Amino acid sequence: MSKLDFFQMYRDIIAIPSISSTDPAWDQSNQQVINLLADWFAGLGFAVEIQPVAGVAGKFNLVATLGQGSGGLLLAGHTDTVPFDADRWSKDPFKVTQEGDRLYGLGTIDMKGFFAFIVAALQELDLTQLTKPLRILATADEETTMAGAKAIAEAASLKPDYAVIGEPTGLVPVIMHKGHMSEAIRITGKSGHSSDPANGINAIEIMHQAIGKLLGLQQELKEKYNNPHFKVPYPTLNFGAIHGGDSPNRICGCCELHIDMRPIPGVSPEELVGLLHENLKELHECHPGCLHISHMHDPIPPYACAEDSPLIAEAEQATGHAAEAVNYCTEAPFIQQLGCDTLVLGPGHIAQAHQPDEYLDLSFVKPTQAVLQHLVRRFCH
Ligand SMILES: [Zn+2]
Repeated sequence: MSKLDFFQMYRDIIAIPSISSTDPAWDQSNQQVINLLADWFAGLGFAVEIQPVAGVAGKFNLVATLGQGSGGLLLAGHTDTVPFDADRWSKDPFKVTQEGDRLYGLGTIDMKGFFAFIVAALQELDLTQLTKPLRILATADEETTMAGAKAIAEAASLKPDYAVIGEPTGLVPVIMHKGHMSEAIRITGKSGHSSDPANGINAIEIMHQAIGKLLGLQQELKEKYNNPHFKVPYPTLNFGAIHGGDSPNRICGCCELHIDMRPIPGVSPEELVGLLHENLKELHECHPGCLHISHMHDPIPPYACAEDSPLIAEAEQATGHAAEAVNYCTEAPFIQQLGCDTLVLGPGHIAQAHQPDEYLDLSFVKPTQAVLQHLVRRFCH
């Protein structure tokens, strides 16, 4: 097959909208992007498998494999983008526009453009020389539920030795990030006329006590845990939203607090939920049945790559950058569940992700392709 042009691939993949959103008015199927990727990788001789993501209509993962058996390298990314703010984009988000040394478009760096980098890099290699399998994974719904990556982790049918996820890290190897949880704490009291407090159970007053306990937990997290790779080296607990009551002359019957918690590597979401329950136990005993804690979405676990992994050493050498920790979440904790050393490393800067006029700086093109070629040569030979 004749070689595909890098810029044409970029134009083609950005032109297909593949927005994922928890708002059904925005949410779209990623099937057309998956089909395009299937053509690209089949053209390179890969065996391509398109897998519907169970429970999510119109969403698909793609696994493309060159070679047989387990081991080798997995290059991964997500096919969806966030929605866009039409008023704030000065260009058409679905039409790649080159201006100076920038390529503008939705998904240019976060991150379906990464697949064009992979194809361009592989076209320059003699793929018949590979002795270990090379796999490509393209997932659905990273920007919302990570359903695609979770399905791949649960199926556990891929067994690579190493995985690289091409999120926009500025081509710096990223080896850890915190997890993310959103928890709802609901206090159900009993409403009544404000003239007699004994007529009810005031949910705001109980919430006040709960917040006091959680402030204590904030402090406990800070003292108990420390990971010096992070600017904020401990698990955080943020008070994000609170709603309760309806009018001054009624005893508040219900109050709900939403908190965000970010576990560091080595601390599981379950451990933080355990601490939450432990700190609120006394309150629970004083007011039986009043207190309810629930996940607002499935927790994203923290992630760290084993620091002695050869993948880190190779990536540092190939990019010339020391590995670092970041403060955003990726699919890495799920991909890692396949049993592979996992790294996040890709072109473009995270600061341009989820922004109007998202763009790829063209200075990333050559170095990224060279890094991908280096990793394929190193881990598939
Ligand atoms: Zn992304």
